[in-house]
Amino acid sequence: MRILKTVLVVLALSALPLRAAAQQNSPLDQMVDRIIIQEQAEMNSLRAFSPMVETYIQNLKGDKDLGVVPVGDKYFLGRAILAKGVELEPLTEGDNSGGVRKRIFGGLGSMFSMEYLPRGFLQMIYLDTNGFDKSHYKFDYVRREFLGEVRTLVFDVTPLPKTGKGRFVGRIWVEDQDFHIVRFNGAYSGGSRTNYYFHFDSWRVNSGPNLWLPAFIYSEESDLNYAVAKRLSFKAQTRLWGYNTSASAQEQELSKILIESQTPVKDQSSTANDINPIMAQRNWYRQAEDNVVDRLERIGLLAPQGEVDKVLETVVNNLEVTNNLDVQPEIRCRVLLTSTLESFTIGHTIVFSRGLIDVLPDEASLATMVAHEVSHVVLGHRIDSQYAFFDRLMFDEKDTFRHFSFSRTQAEEEAANTKTNELLMNSPYKDQLTTAKLFLDALQSRQKDIPNLISPHLGVRVPVNLALAASAAPSSQNPTESNGAAGPAKVPSQIVALPLGGRIKMDPWGDKLEMLKSKPTGTVAEHEKMPFEVTPFMVYLTRETSNTDASAVHGAISADSKTVADKGPQQ
Ligand SMILES: [Zn+2]
Repeated sequence: MRILKTVLVVLALSALPLRAAAQQNSPLDQMVDRIIIQEQAEMNSLRAFSPMVETYIQNLKGDKDLGVVPVGDKYFLGRAILAKGVELEPLTEGDNSGGVRKRIFGGLGSMFSMEYLPRGFLQMIYLDTNGFDKSHYKFDYVRREFLGEVRTLVFDVTPLPKTGKGRFVGRIWVEDQDFHIVRFNGAYSGGSRTNYYFHFDSWRVNSGPNLWLPAFIYSEESDLNYAVAKRLSFKAQTRLWGYNTSASAQEQELSKILIESQTPVKDQSSTANDINPIMAQRNWYRQAEDNVVDRLERIGLLAPQGEVDKVLETVVNNLEVTNNLDVQPEIRCRVLLTSTLESFTIGHTIVFSRGLIDVLPDEASLATMVAHEVSHVVLGHRIDSQYAFFDRLMFDEKDTFRHFSFSRTQAEEEAANTKTNELLMNSPYKDQLTTAKLFLDALQSRQKDIPNLISPHLGVRVPVNLALAASAAPSSQNPTESNGAAGPAKVPSQIVALPLGGRIKMDPWGDKLEMLKSKPTGTVAEHEKMPFEVTPFMVYLTRETSNTDASAVHGAISADSKTVADKGPQQ
């Protein structure tokens, strides 16, 4: 008996190195091993995060001139709890479907009803959470390719037979330093009649050493065999941001304060420092304003201060100077991170959504929107001063949209619209308002097709009914002097609104916003204009090397990849 056992053990041991050697022989196999281990590490490390998730879907119908156009839309905003898989906490109110919180999207139309599950879109940040390895997939090397500045290795990935439903089939792009999958494009296979898997293109963005964060997913389906005959087509964008918890930002600030406090504070008692009642009242409102702004930033709804604010503040300044306005305390601008088109004021802080800035066609139309909000400020439409009491800010995150409302009365809106025209007439924009008018017209005519993009969640719907004064919007008979052409005004059809994502770039780690720097597109065909529309993501990937706090959090994943590197090269 004993002898037999020994023999068996020896056999098993001698078989192992042979198999391992066979696998190690191929460089492709070695590389695939690294990719698989890195993807495992990526999935583990993502569990530490609870990013914001926004999904915006446009349903499509054919149009003889424009190809396809949106008819109806859906919007979802929530926080992903990645520690629990693809769990989502909704932040926006559900549609009238009301029901279970996971079924936020409601029906698609009167003919049939089908639900998009927000979790289904969030799922697309992962290739396969249950068996992304060589026993479930076949990998075929395709080529090397640059995605932006990042050199990648491209593979086609197919599930092996009988590995079950829901496996990923498609193409992956792997950066060639640490073998993170940075993009994957395809679908989950094996959908059934009751269960649909959409095609998607999922991007991860680098935010520090070994830190690749799922940030953008484009999905589209144009030929889905939905319940035999009823065709469903849509396109959707999912964005993730707010990975960096606000706690660390607060702590950074605290350590800065500790350093500052070592330098003595100057005694200014020679000047008049006492606060009179008017100043006290102003400070009280400013405090309420600061509290609300701070709270919204911490939740991940407002971007931290940055260059886009400056762009808006320049426009505010142009309006103030030309209108001899001296607003105290000074007007500030901030950006709401959502794709919805909204703007509002919190006291003297003007807030524009990222989506609204994205779609505005030019500076004059931006100025028109800014002028509307400046009007609210000038007319003294106030913030509710209850927010100057700090306990009013202490509520659960998911109640944000119920808690804050910056909406205005009808009378206030009308007064602001009148004032807007007045401000614009004195401004440097007064002769360039043609596109602003076209933009407002387009918004008005599209509002039934994209109601969820236009309906605000915090603020007020953009002033679609703002009628620009006749003289403010020169008709085509008076060609604008901008191009100086003496002939009849050409511009057969102008760009009246840009697609979503047309202007602003977002960093998913710290929510920082930057203006996109893209090359001019040259002639744009009619079907390429896509005002207010969802378009695919083509991310210009870069490697972030300066984000030190990001790398600190990611000690875990670096350690993992180190073991991969150690194992890798041995023969
Ligand atoms: Zn308004």
